[in-house]
Amino acid sequence: MTVLELAAVTKVYPSQPPVTALRNVNLTIESGELVAIVGPSGSGKTTLLHLMGTLDRPTTGTVRVTGLDASAMTDRDVARLRATRIGFVFQQFFLAEHATVLDNVADGLLYAGTPHRERRELAAEALAAVDLPDRMDARPTQLSGGQRQRVAIARALIGRPAIVLADEPTGNLDRATGQSILALLDALHRGGTTILVITHDRDVAARMNRQVEMLDGVIVADTADQKGRAQS
Ligand code: ADP
Ligand code: MG
Repeated sequence: MTVLELAAVTKVYPSQPPVTALRNVNLTIESGELVAIVGPSGSGKTTLLHLMGTLDRPTTGTVRVTGLDASAMTDRDVARLRATRIGFVFQQFFLAEHATVLDNVADGLLYAGTPHRERRELAAEALAAVDLPDRMDARPTQLSGGQRQRVAIARALIGRPAIVLADEPTGNLDRATGQSILALLDALHRGGTTILVITHDRDVAARMNRQVEMLDGVIVADTADQKGRAQS
């Protein structure tokens, strides 16, 4: 099943002067893939992630999430699509400092309309999946950077999204901690989660089965093409 499909996507930021951040991008991601997006700073990686995650709309072209055309939807319907099908992991952990770890994870389901009790049960499961079952009552400030990123990953996973989008998830971590986060993403992928990871680190990208390379807003290489996979 195709989880994400970008067709002829262009993004122009209406700044002064306007910036064309993506040009005619075509990209298809199938269920179960683990994909790295690589490229230098400014090549359009974060813009691409925001469009794939329906956080922003393309200037032209279409973005389909699990077959549904986000560009044809109202903001309200897009928000529901995002809440139920997409999980985000960012470089900054974006945790609520006053709330417990369990509530931070449970809040990942707030917009999906899941009842409170069930949210907390699912949050406990998600924390077990990221190897943090015993820190549920801690505050984020009591955790290490690596543990905070695990909480953020648990929150992204809790709604069982069709795809997890991660933007430089190891960017704020030391190397050893970054490696443990990558090992966790590998394990989640083996368990069937579809994951896309943005990185400027080629060693990180080399661990993934598929690498998509960006330069100046264009996809200049995609290892899926070399494997004879249909290019759409
Ligand atoms: P990357 O994540 O690969 O570093 P970005 O997607 O953040 O690249 O940026 C791509 C290009 O778009 C850059 O030239 C950047 O300066 C520009 N850009 C990003 N966001 C905005 C914005 N909100 N307004 C104007 N230009 C932007
Ligand atoms: Mg970026």
